[in-house]
Amino acid sequence: PLVLGIETSCDETGVGIVRGQTLLADVIASSVQEHARFGGVVPEVASRAHLEAMIPTIDAACQRAGVRLRDLDAIAVTSGPGLSGALLVGLASAKALALALDKPLYGVNHLASHVAVDIVEHGPLPEPTAALLVSGGHSNLLLVPDITNDIRSLGSTIDDAAGEAFDKVARVLGLPFPGGPHIDRVAREGDAAYVTFPRGLTSGRDMERHRFDYSFSGLKTAVARWVEARERDGQPVPVADVAASFQEAVTDVLTRKAVLACREHGVDDLLIGGGVAANSRLRAMAQERCDAAGIRLRVPRPGLCTDNGAMVAALGAQLVERGRAPSDLAIPADSSLPVDIVHV
Ligand code: ATP
Ligand code: MG
Ligand code: FE
Repeated sequence: PLVLGIETSCDETGVGIVRGQTLLADVIASSVQEHARFGGVVPEVASRAHLEAMIPTIDAACQRAGVRLRDLDAIAVTSGPGLSGALLVGLASAKALALALDKPLYGVNHLASHVAVDIVEHGPLPEPTAALLVSGGHSNLLLVPDITNDIRSLGSTIDDAAGEAFDKVARVLGLPFPGGPHIDRVAREGDAAYVTFPRGLTSGRDMERHRFDYSFSGLKTAVARWVEARERDGQPVPVADVAASFQEAVTDVLTRKAVLACREHGVDDLLIGGGVAANSRLRAMAQERCDAAGIRLRVPRPGLCTDNGAMVAALGAQLVERGRAPSDLAIPADSSLPVDIVHV
């Protein structure tokens, strides 16, 4: 099926078009620069930017894919989780298209889309697949028996998301927002063994109660304290070394628990998705540890890890192919849609 997907859960206006499992177009307009001076995404600014970008982005995607709107078989759209006002712009646009073109509408979960996008890059998902979803707002270990209607959460962060930790630590180190890509870049010149920062929820007792959960807020505080102590002593802060040491701590726990989850659930395939999956150290460490454990690893290319429209179109196409029922045109935006609800 030919499916157009619209993503507006945060600050990226993304429109993607897929035919089955083939990506035809993926166009993104981002308002990230408008938020940079605030050090975080401003919901009202994001909503307005989506409104301005929507029609040009849809036009560009159709042009890139060489298709006309009337050729589409379905429209897919992110219905949550995300910023309510931002989601509403995407939903209103998708509903208008579905109504005007008389095509089925599929409201999909943004988190499930972060997993489904890998289908356009590496083909069908083995069933089940384990998924590590690490983004700006979420960090989850998932078991995915069927991407079109069965996702189970094995664990999640009990405080900050991994991406949030990257962004906060970047701020402490004086790097621009969003900080993840900057930490990734400067860490390449740093010594990852310079400071041993804490690995949250990995002690014996925590491994009983929070086996597949994560915690990054203690790590973030530890980095901030370390930097403050240096500054108080009038010493220069070795930014690259601290960035590399922080990144090492995050990727160590993320990959350790993901591999353990695969082992204990007898799953041979691990997928990593979400914005933090663009991180070069995470990708390298995950590959090493999966190779050692005999697990097949799949990670979408970095451009498909961060928010985009292709992920929504990819999941929409799967729903159509599996014969799932389309959504009602009255579906609401759900800012806190749980990860186990794949489509609404
Ligand atoms: P969610 O998907 O939970 O709703 P989101 O949509 O805001 O959150 P994504 O676009 O999936 O998040 O991911 C953005 C996050 O990914 C930011 O926190 C950003 O710093 C982080 N990120 C992006 N690239 C990298 C990288 N190379 N290394 C580490 N973090 C990165
Ligand atoms: Mg973003
Ligand atoms: Fe996202």
